[in-house]
Amino acid sequence: MILEGNFYNHDGRFKGQVKCNDQGIIEAMGESLGQADFAFGEDELIFPGMGDIHIHAREDETGTQLYKESFATAAAAAVNGGVVHVADMPNNPVPPVDDQSYANKCAKCSDEKVHFTLYAGIGPDTNPLTKTVPYKAFMGPSIGDLFFKSQSELETTIERYRGQHVSFHCEDPHILDISKNNATHSDRRPRGAANTATAFALYLIEKYELKGKLCHFSTGDGLELVRAAKARGVSVTVETTPQQLYWDTSVLDDDNKPWLQMNPAFRDEIDRKGLLAGLLDGTVDYIATDHAPHRICEKLGRYQPIEIQKKLSGLSSMSLEEIAELDEICLKNFEELKKNDPEFFSSLADVNGVSGTSQLDTYGAFTTWLMEDQNFTPEQVAKVTAFNPGEFVNQFETTPVKFGQVAEGYAASFTVINKNKPWTVDNNDIQSRSGWSPFHGATFPGSVSAVFHLGKKL
Ligand SMILES: [Zn+2]
Repeated sequence: MILEGNFYNHDGRFKGQVKCNDQGIIEAMGESLGQADFAFGEDELIFPGMGDIHIHAREDETGTQLYKESFATAAAAAVNGGVVHVADMPNNPVPPVDDQSYANKCAKCSDEKVHFTLYAGIGPDTNPLTKTVPYKAFMGPSIGDLFFKSQSELETTIERYRGQHVSFHCEDPHILDISKNNATHSDRRPRGAANTATAFALYLIEKYELKGKLCHFSTGDGLELVRAAKARGVSVTVETTPQQLYWDTSVLDDDNKPWLQMNPAFRDEIDRKGLLAGLLDGTVDYIATDHAPHRICEKLGRYQPIEIQKKLSGLSSMSLEEIAELDEICLKNFEELKKNDPEFFSSLADVNGVSGTSQLDTYGAFTTWLMEDQNFTPEQVAKVTAFNPGEFVNQFETTPVKFGQVAEGYAASFTVINKNKPWTVDNNDIQSRSGWSPFHGATFPGSVSAVFHLGKKL
């Protein structure tokens, strides 16, 4: 297969052709390698296949959360978003925490359309696996049971993981606990919780010589801790999310709060600007979505009459059709409550709900906002969406497939973005089983026009 057009790597661009072999690997690059099978025009940017290294598909051996997302539906959402490899977090009903449970989860996603890397969980009683895998440590309670109640409990465990690849969800459990009765979600999960936990994670990474990663970074001032750590040679990389780059507390209102609740919470404009600057100066390494495919009915639970709220606790025993119906009913109830009882509707805005947003479908299109509205160059986009995520997952690859660059010997996986074909996101376009996007109604200046994985057009 030969592709032709404008290719963009993290360190440069070229116009020409790329030839792939039958194993789906790039074997040659040049000006005229032969008749092109796919030729892309001047509006189209061909990136190395993009990678989202922080998602929550919900499939495990219990199959009890398939109504949220299976590996197959996550893969469909990834392709829709121009993403060819994803890394899935371990907070499942049966978390992958040892060789056997990890292998059981791997068996579930070995045949999908895109490449899956799986994180193993770290909890108070766990130990490292035999093979090299990425680990995830949740410092405070989020979704699921894998978390620590105190810093000392976490350190006792991390001691056993010396030298390993550990990603941290940075929110300090003690600060979360003393903030839990505050009025808004952002104040219940305050910046102090994030920054205190960041400092502690950096201390652990340095002391136990971890290859550390900080997940979904949210604060601008917290990046100063990261800059200082990186400057003294600490092995740490940093993710931030499209949502933290796109929204801040200034846009939150009664209408969007249930959709935009997530952990860590939204911060202020100064943080958002700080994260964008951090992406440009290399302090932040990855755009990773924290894709959390909760259903519409789960996100809107608190707006529902009591009999519907009761149903929501039994989603795992309902059929997908029944849940789709419930999604519609809940959305209708939400809209009607807004119209008929605006005061009660408003009073529910800051009541605690389900945290997390559905993000995979919009990954590629979001990069056109970075380029068009935030003046990122295509090379800068290639770095944080393809090169750095590729470098991360390549460390755990047992096959010779390498991601992250358009270069000989690398995977013939490409994300083609049309920078001049706008997309107004509609929930009906979403392939994730969650069926919604916080970007519903928003218009990106460009869109994903084609995706290739290992030499095949998806
Ligand atoms: Zn997450």
